[in-house]
Amino acid sequence: MNHPLSILVIEDDADTLANLCDILELDGHVVLGVNSLAETKRVTRDHQFQIAISDRKLPEGYIEDLLSDLKSSLKGADIIVITGFADMQSTITAFRLGVTDYVIKPIIPDDLRRTVQQIAEKRRLEDELAREHRFADLVLNTAEAIVLVLDLDGNVIQFNPYFEQLTGWTHDDLLGKDWFRNCIAEHEHERVKEVFIETAHCVKTRGVVNAVVGKNGDSYQIRWANTTLRDLDGEVTAVLAVGVDISDLTIAQERALQAERLAAIGQTMTALAHESRNALQRIQAATEMLGLEVENNPNALKDLKAIQRANEDLKSLLEEVRLFAAPIHIRRSPVRFPEIWRRVWNDLSPLHSKRDVELIESFEGCNVDVHVDAPRLEQVFRNLFENSLAACTDPVRIEINCICVDDRIELVLSDNGPGISQHHLEMLFQPFFTTKPTGTGLGLSICQRIVEAHQGTLVAKDASGGARFEIRLPRQNHSTIPCLS
Ligand code: ADP
Repeated sequence: MNHPLSILVIEDDADTLANLCDILELDGHVVLGVNSLAETKRVTRDHQFQIAISDRKLPEGYIEDLLSDLKSSLKGADIIVITGFADMQSTITAFRLGVTDYVIKPIIPDDLRRTVQQIAEKRRLEDELAREHRFADLVLNTAEAIVLVLDLDGNVIQFNPYFEQLTGWTHDDLLGKDWFRNCIAEHEHERVKEVFIETAHCVKTRGVVNAVVGKNGDSYQIRWANTTLRDLDGEVTAVLAVGVDISDLTIAQERALQAERLAAIGQTMTALAHESRNALQRIQAATEMLGLEVENNPNALKDLKAIQRANEDLKSLLEEVRLFAAPIHIRRSPVRFPEIWRRVWNDLSPLHSKRDVELIESFEGCNVDVHVDAPRLEQVFRNLFENSLAACTDPVRIEINCICVDDRIELVLSDNGPGISQHHLEMLFQPFFTTKPTGTGLGLSICQRIVEAHQGTLVAKDASGGARFEIRLPRQNHSTIPCLS
């Protein structure tokens, strides 16, 4: 016996009871016999049965009158009634009340066996179906993929919890609603509908990517594999779409593309900067000579100074672009860290000496040599100071807090300017992001590359009442470790 069942036999005639138990036990089932409803209630307190075989007439009355009591004791067991031809009408009543099958007296063992086997097979199929349902539920609830079902008009019939988790849409929001109108951006309607119609005409569509609009308006790039669902007659009733969120992949691809574009721009700009530097040097030399010739002409001298300033601006602009494009080689040498920013602050005195500006420094443990590329880090401080001085109105307070510990240097530079909005924070280190009319938007991107070339990090935050930049550098004690970035 492949699937032995646990069977309860309820019969008040002792011989019949023994006979029934024998037949069933011979087939390998686990059988218990009782002689009344009261006994049934007692044994079902501790045991559960899959089948109960009961005489129609019990000491407490007829089964059709006792059925609700019996069913609640048997908790889901199938009930087979043993009945005589004469009782057929009442047996049909019992059927209506939930009895599964009947066996006619006198009992023929093969008939009883067949009935029990049919129930066993039915139970096996039900168990299998329940197992498949549980598995399908598990897959639907745990897979990190969207499962979406649309009717043939494009209305949403069903979707899994992952879709809700990703997009924020709930069943209340979308069930029965038009998928395209609610979740697809208008400019994509035509293309996405074409795929839907193609799928509904029994074409499996795979690898189709489109954006799905979430409840709060965010959009997600989804790659779909679609097929149809059919009814028992084979008629297509719905479209099943399984989608994977590839938004991160798309962003990474865009970044890679941008990096390629920047590399190409970088190469061009390096060549341009190199050529231009020679030309600018010639302009500088020529204007210096001209300055001697027009010494006595104050108007001409004024114009000449303007040309020289423009020349200087152009030179530093080209230098910035060249720095951005060129690989960064780090050459470490021992230095006291505070000396780096102090040197820069002094160099920048033309920018702050005539304003109400204060640099407030505090540092701890920095009275030792650290091994960094000081000229490169000067560039970082120069850019951070210049940005703070440009952003803040007088009185300006720029604060530096620096801690040098065994394995790292942690420095925070903050100012009392307008700060940086969340939106700008996300783009701050992207090349060419600037809010200044004449800015290049390369400064912070270069700073970040320099710090990262030291294996450190540079992040920006919007502190209360100003901007805040945090630099973290690992301390290294060996000198001259060239590094590329
Ligand atoms: P640029 O100075 O050429 O604009 P940066 O990369 O140095 O390029 O700076 C990018 C942008 O970051 C600036 O245009 C400015 O909007 C913002 N920014 C940088 N530092 C500060 C600061 N201290 N306070 C407010 N905004 C800042």
